[in-house]
Parts: sequence; structure tokens; C-alpha cells
Amino acid sequence: MAIRNIREFGDNVLNKTSKEIKEVDSKLLTLIDDMIDTMYHACGVGLAAPQVGVLKRLVVIDISEEGNDPIILINPVILATDGVQTGDEGCLSLPGKVGTVTRPNYVKVKAYNKKMEEFTIEGTELLARALCHEIDHLNGVLYTDKVEGELRNSGDSEE
Ligand code: ZN
Repeated sequence: MAIRNIREFGDNVLNKTSKEIKEVDSKLLTLIDDMIDTMYHACGVGLAAPQVGVLKRLVVIDISEEGNDPIILINPVILATDGVQTGDEGCLSLPGKVGTVTRPNYVKVKAYNKKMEEFTIEGTELLARALCHEIDHLNGVLYTDKVEGELRNSGDSEE
């Protein structure tokens, strides 16, 4: 387990499309563990493999308050969305920044677990936002492509 370097805005790897994962080998399991460690170390709620420089369709998310309930998504695909939510969003690749982004308020996602077993996950509110944000990363899309208005410093958002 190790903390990996998080690629920041301006790094070309963040604009590339990630490749589908065909099998889970020991190298991928190490990547998953490292991504979870890296996400917690950076106090993030989600991290996609391209953010650590690996162009594979792999996402980890943890929106729990305790930060000990990671969701691992291999080859995630959005099956359905419903509703809208507009709110502040940040990204570990743009530290200290937030912006207003409109997302679906509900999403249903199909993905594979570490055993390459298919499962579906449904999320609303923050989980729906995190799923959309991280899956966007796999397609080389950053929230800055969708932000309404200017990016702000995260400290400025406190009211
Ligand atoms: Zn991000």
C-alpha cells in the first residue's frame, strides 16, 4: 500500500479516455489499495485511476463520514439517471478549488468488483454526484468542463 502522486489540472493524462479492464491481477489489486489510501490521505470522497496517471476504467469512492467504506468500481457504466441537483463540487486534481455543477440527483451504475463480478449501485445526492464526477474522469472529462460560472477558492464558499 502506498500513497500515489495525484495528477493536477493541466496534466494531459486527465484529458485522455481510460481503457476497459479485462482482468484483475495482482498489479491491479495493488493499484486499488493504493488509490484507496491516496483518496483517504487527500481527504477526498472519490478518485479515478487517471488521477494517479493510470488510464484504466477504475474508480474508488467513499462518501461515508467515518471514511472506511470504500466502493470499488471497475468498468463503471451509468445505466439510468433522474432529476437534477446543483451544488458545489471539487476535485483532488484541482486542490483548494470549488465550482457549481449541475448533476443528476439519482444515478444507477453497473460495474464489476475485484472478483470481476457484475453489480449495480444506486446513488442519490452526494453519491450520485461522486459517481458522475469520477466516471467523467474515465472519459477525460473534468468538472471544469461543466462548471457554471467561475471556480472559487474552497475557503470562500463558507457562508
Ligand atoms: Zn475529480
